[in-house]
Amino acid sequence: MLAEITGYDAVSFQPNSGAQGEFAGLLAIRAYLASKGEGHRDICLIPESAHGTNPASAQMCGMTVVVTRCDSSGNVDVEDIRAKAEKYSDRLAAIMITYPSTHGVFEEDVVEICEIVHAHGGQVYTDGANMNALCGVAKPGKWGSDVSHLNLHKTFCIPHGGGGPGVGPCAVKSHLAPFLPRAFGGEGAVGMVSAATHGSASILPISWMYITLMGAEGRRRATQVALRSANYIARRLEPHYPTLYTGRNGLVAHECILDLRPLKDATGVGAEDVAKRLIDFGFHAPTLSFPVSGTLMVEPTESEALHERDRVIDAMIQIRDEIRAIEDGRLDREDNPLKNAPHTAAQASASEWTHAYPRELAVFPLPSLRQQKYWPPVARVDNVHGDKNVFCSCIPIGSAEDEPEAFSEPDVV
Ligand SMILES: *Cc1c(COP(=O)(O)O)cnc(C)c1O
Repeated sequence: MLAEITGYDAVSFQPNSGAQGEFAGLLAIRAYLASKGEGHRDICLIPESAHGTNPASAQMCGMTVVVTRCDSSGNVDVEDIRAKAEKYSDRLAAIMITYPSTHGVFEEDVVEICEIVHAHGGQVYTDGANMNALCGVAKPGKWGSDVSHLNLHKTFCIPHGGGGPGVGPCAVKSHLAPFLPRAFGGEGAVGMVSAATHGSASILPISWMYITLMGAEGRRRATQVALRSANYIARRLEPHYPTLYTGRNGLVAHECILDLRPLKDATGVGAEDVAKRLIDFGFHAPTLSFPVSGTLMVEPTESEALHERDRVIDAMIQIRDEIRAIEDGRLDREDNPLKNAPHTAAQASASEWTHAYPRELAVFPLPSLRQQKYWPPVARVDNVHGDKNVFCSCIPIGSAEDEPEAFSEPDVV
């Protein structure tokens, strides 16, 4: 079923994550090249917009990463790829591209990029983590790509909170099929990449059921809804927060990057303040400062109803109004609901309230919150301080049998 969806010929279920799928796919490329007497090819081109796992996987396979540029609209720079493919023609092993890109746009030149890399003897790895923007609409195996991983824990319904388990199947064209990870006790040029022939087999029925129940028509519809949802959010928020990258037609793919950086310069309010303020509205913030620092990246997916999308949009518009109030001097630059967010029930119900704005604005910024309110248990946490002061709170193993020790202050590393 996955071969049919992706346009490839063979699939290994061994990898337990997307990153492991990348590792398996690049090992297949190396083994394939070696089988043709081209084992010296070791350069992997990776655009600067790539997910961090891409260069990490290439390094782990012993490849040398050469980064290629993006243009001002977030697209990979084809001329830079051409120049670097030519420069390293003798050593080119692969390119790793993400489609649609991590900047949330459909690269228009993807077919040409595949042709350039193939002309210089390299293989094309397409990071398939964004398959929810392609399923039923386009097949990487048909536009010239040689290998992809999928993230069944992103696109095919396996829940992936809290770090796993995942499934990152590696799908390849037929020439790479002999170089997929071998089965336990089996033959093959490439060893196993995980401890079981079929990886996390026990959770595959989830994806099997999803694919079967949705059918081809349902999967296409899910993709269309995911794309429209992202564009709906981008378009409705456009007057308040510009979308950083769009395609030539002004549309995004499956996610949009909201640019908050100009607000920071004007008001001192940054993306982190907006992320914290969203908690007062009952929302976990979208992706913060990735892939572009100072921005929020929103990926609504196909599963959020219109009502939910509108709730997020209403919250974001109200937050923009609060930022505008800071610009106009109606709210204090330092003591405002954004800088102090989130607000706990303990703070709001305390006898004393010393802030320069009303309690009501702090905890009920929209009338709808009176019907349904999430009360954050913890007030503002200093993220940077936390990141810089890592400490281990594990109780030493030996002490379990001894008298329970009084909890002591952890050592600051
Ligand atoms: C999530 C993701 C990965 C890595 O997948 P994991 O399962 O987290 O290892 C790789 N590339 C992209 C674009 C992703 O979004």
